[in-house]
Amino acid sequence: MPPRVRTLSQAFRAIFGRRAKKIPLDAGSSCPNRDGALSQNGCLFCNAAGSGTGLHLKGFGLRAQWAVLSQPARRRNEALLAYLQSFSNTYGPPERLAALLAEMAQLPDIEGICLGTRPDCLNNKKIKLLAAAPVAHVRLELGLQSANDATLTRINRGHTAADFARATIDAAAAGLSVTAHVMAGLPGESVADFLATVDFVAALPIAGVKLHNTLVVAGSPLAALYAAGGYVPMAREDYVTAVCRAIARLPVQVAIERQNADPAPGELLAPAWAADKQGILRDIAERLEREDIWQGMERKTGKCLRRPGGIIPPGPP
Ligand code: SF4
Repeated sequence: MPPRVRTLSQAFRAIFGRRAKKIPLDAGSSCPNRDGALSQNGCLFCNAAGSGTGLHLKGFGLRAQWAVLSQPARRRNEALLAYLQSFSNTYGPPERLAALLAEMAQLPDIEGICLGTRPDCLNNKKIKLLAAAPVAHVRLELGLQSANDATLTRINRGHTAADFARATIDAAAAGLSVTAHVMAGLPGESVADFLATVDFVAALPIAGVKLHNTLVVAGSPLAALYAAGGYVPMAREDYVTAVCRAIARLPVQVAIERQNADPAPGELLAPAWAADKQGILRDIAERLEREDIWQGMERKTGKCLRRPGGIIPPGPP
């Protein structure tokens, strides 16, 4: 039985011919939505840690982090990718990005770069720099969260859905792989709104998607809203439904890299069910099995993972 969902592991095996590992590194990047360029408050769901490890602040450079953190994957002979996850890693002048890329190119045995950023922190010059990086694979993780501009304003993203589309199209045209980050359960949004966002990214040249449930984390503006009774988190069952329906709508060539959010230790305030990451993944897998859901099966045309090469016939628009 073929897998019902295309994973990042499968995508990496096709690229590198073996297992690959993203090594999380902290480059000490910042974010225009935090340093005052756009806002000092950050996105509604983000706290000042910005999902970071804080290792850069503690004085560990990229090379030192790499030397320690890449060891287990190196012993397993996996392809190694430097993964700059926290904050917006292409923020700032192109010279900063060029220096960062040059430093990463010198990391022993590096074969790929994966870099998280915002769509408004990319321009043609930066995209060219990324495309010229001397590694086999460059992957950009671009935050969108919602394709609805009213929601983007409500959660203080500081960019529009059109910004995301432009950045994705330009990056893909330069040969970069783009992974879209989207969220279910954002304030004011329903499952239907989330699925509209999924359809929006599915129509763009993305290589991957990360599906997240909205977390209320300590220190975020959403935590204050939640405490004041202004936000009700999504129910676990609704999230499982939302993810399964998203999987059915996503094209088969898109790697579904994440199916739920991973709360940092000690930060999660609500919903409590979000702490059960493995249990949620099991619920999703069981639902896919029970309802015979396959990635791509709800697309009007194209392939479905139901069987290798299985084609969905053209349907009504
Ligand atoms: S979620 Fe990302 S873009 Fe938003 S404030 Fe946090 S680091 Fe910045």
